[in-house]
Amino acid sequence: MKRVFLETYGCQMNVADSELMAGVLERAGMELVPRPDEADAVILNTCAIREHAELRVLGRLGEFAHLKMKNPALVVGVAGCMAQHLRKKLLDTKRVLDLVVGPDGYRDLPNLLKSAAGAPVAEIRLDRDETYGDLEPKRVAGVRAWVTVQRGCDKFCTYCVVPYTRGRERSIPLADLVRQVEHAAARGFCEIVFLGQTVNSWKHDTNDFADLLRAANGVAGVKRIRFTSPHPSDMTDRVIAAMAECEKVMPHVHLPLQSGSDRVLDAMNRTYDMATFRDVVAKLRARVPKMALSTDVIVGFPGETEEEFEMTSAYLKEARFDSAFLFKYSARPDTKAFKWPETVTEDEKGRRLTRLIDEQMAISAEINDALLGAEVEVLVENVSHRDGTQLYGKSAEFKTVVFTDDGTQPGELARVKVVGTTPVTLLGESLKKPRQVPLVTIG
Ligand code: SF4
Repeated sequence: MKRVFLETYGCQMNVADSELMAGVLERAGMELVPRPDEADAVILNTCAIREHAELRVLGRLGEFAHLKMKNPALVVGVAGCMAQHLRKKLLDTKRVLDLVVGPDGYRDLPNLLKSAAGAPVAEIRLDRDETYGDLEPKRVAGVRAWVTVQRGCDKFCTYCVVPYTRGRERSIPLADLVRQVEHAAARGFCEIVFLGQTVNSWKHDTNDFADLLRAANGVAGVKRIRFTSPHPSDMTDRVIAAMAECEKVMPHVHLPLQSGSDRVLDAMNRTYDMATFRDVVAKLRARVPKMALSTDVIVGFPGETEEEFEMTSAYLKEARFDSAFLFKYSARPDTKAFKWPETVTEDEKGRRLTRLIDEQMAISAEINDALLGAEVEVLVENVSHRDGTQLYGKSAEFKTVVFTDDGTQPGELARVKVVGTTPVTLLGESLKKPRQVPLVTIG
């Protein structure tokens, strides 16, 4: 059991968990390989949030069944939320599977893989104390380090499986997180992104999320700090003050709205109403200059009336988010809302979704158009995949900026003038002299 192929589905928390698993496996002497047909074991790190993600994983398992026919010794494992969520069904119905490991079983992954080579193994216990705070992840190269600050969730939104698949909220101690940030910065990761299901509810001993932001702001080598996803109910005045006062904390917040109707928010158990949400948005914009906001919205939640949908549409126009992730409601087994009758047809959900997408695209385009001629500071990530003469990176407001290669290296900041826009990208011209191409004399 030497070579492991690891594939990740779902959210950034899962990407960070894969980095954690990669660190655990490499410290045990195992090697990560880029292709499943080169591996002794394959692990799918899965997501149970949406039905679509589950179907993709089941399809992939079908492909691994073929691989296993050629190589019967291959160990096939499923990790993550889907493992936790569908543990029984996976082991019962997917004979291809040798290992099912839930989000709290990664510490022992090398041993579990070895055991699964003999007989199927399921390690799906939720552990109220496991945070992996002491384990170093193997971070994917780049400018950005994802630092998980908490695991699990205590909010129990009625449509969401996370509290059941990842367990109750546990925060990693401040000292462990500062050490992780220092370690990442020392290895050249100059942007830190704190991750948690409700990242701003992080607290440990007497420290809260505002203290964590201030502590990270003091770490040498860190240029930018971001976090995702905060919960509106935990966006306290202390957190907003820390954002305003810490120069490395970037002016962008992804603040999930979900619905513009108080009744629907209550049915979702989101724990805030529209007055509270409006108040948080107003405070963020008042305290943090050039604050950019993005959001999530679900349309077609059970019982959502046309009038309630219109409230969501109206609020998106009022709030003018820079961007939004818009979804159709998808009922997930084991959640409270799963038992509620679906009152909005798929066609109607589709109509509502298309309307919001069109409206939001127009708003995003207007906001980006207003930046024409402005100067933005870009943290360069790499050369553009599409055009090797262009660089790309993110502005402080987390907008993707593509601009002519001026010799700025990944991890360096560039000053760029915005000369073109789309609803999702800014096109720029460097304010530094472009890279000098050496003259070649022939003959
Ligand atoms: S806050 Fe709600 S939607 Fe987010 S992870 Fe927790 S239960 Fe799920």
